[in-house]
Amino acid sequence: MQARYHVQIMRAAIGDRFSKSDFRRIIRANLSQDRLQALVLHPEYHFDGGALRDAQAYISQQRRLAVRLLLTRGDRAGALDAFGRLTHARQDFYAHSNWTALWVAQHGGFERTTPEQIDICPNPLGVTGLFSGNASVVHFLACRVPVYGGWHARHLTPPDDHESMNLDHPGRGPLFPYAMAAATKHTAVELEALLRMLQRDGGPAAQALLLEPTT
Ligand SMILES: [Zn+2]
Repeated sequence: MQARYHVQIMRAAIGDRFSKSDFRRIIRANLSQDRLQALVLHPEYHFDGGALRDAQAYISQQRRLAVRLLLTRGDRAGALDAFGRLTHARQDFYAHSNWTALWVAQHGGFERTTPEQIDICPNPLGVTGLFSGNASVVHFLACRVPVYGGWHARHLTPPDDHESMNLDHPGRGPLFPYAMAAATKHTAVELEALLRMLQRDGGPAAQALLLEPTT
């Protein structure tokens, strides 16, 4: 998903829950997941390459890391970074999997649904027919060659490749607003999940460690 849409989702989902500087920090951690090295070497950061299981595990691991950093080291900045990273993966799920296509098809198509109605996918590992696009470095690079790239994307990328499937920007068609809506809802759910885990492990006051600056 392109950076501006990650930011838009974050603002809509959790923008009012953090101070400006904390929000900026979370955004920085979210967007840095798309640096070139992380794009190529870590499909699990982006729900790419069919990495549903690995990406789910990555999100859980980053949630646990955020809780541990806050409760055992008082490392608020580290916790905000971990939360930023896990929201990136969660948002990319809706841009890189066929969840929106499945949901729209199952609910009567574009005529009978609006993006706002879309459900989040609570468990990507338990949905029949769900998959995410293969992340081929060859197609990724070929589609970005000036002039030739567009032709390559239309004629040579397989239908299950990231380049054919992604909903990274509005130009990808009518499913894009559904991906935005679902990603926004699920980002809010991710914050609640983190706050619940904080409360479980650190008691009722622990949530304030994340939401309120201590210095
Ligand atoms: Zn990404």
